[in-house]
Amino acid sequence: MSSDCLFCKISACEIPAEKLYDDDEIMAFRDIAPQAPLHFLVIPKKHIQDPAAVGTDDEALMGKMIRVGSQVAKENGITDFRLVFNNGAQAGQTVFHIHMHVLGGRSLNWPPG
Ligand code: 5GP
Ligand code: ZN
Repeated sequence: MSSDCLFCKISACEIPAEKLYDDDEIMAFRDIAPQAPLHFLVIPKKHIQDPAAVGTDDEALMGKMIRVGSQVAKENGITDFRLVFNNGAQAGQTVFHIHMHVLGGRSLNWPPG
C-alpha cells in the first residue's frame, strides 16, 4: 500500500468505486470517465507503479488480470474488447499504480491516436 496512491485507496475501499470483481489479489471497477459503453479497470492490490516495474514474481498476477478482465467483459455481454496498459505519461498514464483498461461495446479505431 502506497499511502498517497489513488488506486491503493480504492483497493482498500477508502475511496468508493463501482466494483465488478474483487478478491484478495485483484479488483475490477468501472472507469470514472468511460471511453466506451463498457470501460473498466483491473488492478492488482499490490502496488506496482507501471508495466515496466513488473517483476518475475508478478507474472502470474498479470496473467490473472487478463483472465479475469476477459471474464468480466463476457459477463457484461461483451465478446470483442481491447485491453490497454499505459506505461508513462507520454503514453497516457495518469495514475501510477498499474492498471489494465478493458474497453468494449463500440468499434475501436486502430492504431490509437
Ligand atoms: P491512465 O490514464 O493512467 O491509463 O488511466 C487512469 C484511468 O483512471 C482513467 O481512465 C481515469 O478516468 C480513471 N480514474 C481516475 N481517477 C479515478 C477514480 O477516482 N475512480 C475511478 N473509478 N476511475 C478513475
Ligand atoms: Zn497503489
